[in-house]
Amino acid sequence: VYLTFDDGPSARTDEILEILDKYGVKATFFVVGANEEGDLERMQKIVAAGHTLAIHSYSHDYKKIYASVEAYLEDFNQMFCQIYEATGVKPQIFRFPGGSVNSYNVGIHQQLIAEMTRRGFVYFDWNVANGVFSKIQPSSTLTANALKGVGTARRAIILMHDSSAKTTTVEALPAIIEALLQEGYQFVPISQLILDGNYTI
Ligand code: ZN
Repeated sequence: VYLTFDDGPSARTDEILEILDKYGVKATFFVVGANEEGDLERMQKIVAAGHTLAIHSYSHDYKKIYASVEAYLEDFNQMFCQIYEATGVKPQIFRFPGGSVNSYNVGIHQQLIAEMTRRGFVYFDWNVANGVFSKIQPSSTLTANALKGVGTARRAIILMHDSSAKTTTVEALPAIIEALLQEGYQFVPISQLILDGNYTI
């Protein structure tokens, strides 16, 4: 199982890192531009703990980033530079806001993917989402969605959210990890897929 957290870092990220550490579990964080005090340090903590630090978007503004390939690249480069300056890591992995094909990028997504691939970046969507980014859902719902979504899949990339308002992501996480551990799943950061030369799940 690949646990992935989008839209951080935030104070929620600190709480999630503690939980992951407690269970000895590695995950992947698709981050957005630092907007709170401490966010750059949170990026450093993600790297130091052995998780994958990956790019989501600097602005996370769908209309702006999907206006053109150039607009997307400009926003992406801003996030790349911020991560590199904060951590010394050159991120290779990213996730398109809204997924690789969505209603905002449908006209340019093939060009976008081709250009990003040409530049050596690798994107990952998800096959399980435990909630939606636009509202706060009860932790019981997030847990149930995650476990139902994984089902008996051999491998799953679970999308979760660690922006500041998403307190229920933190509340749901221990139950998700415990249930999946019990079922015999291993937790792997996405960087391992790249190291294995395996870019798909
Ligand atoms: Zn997002």
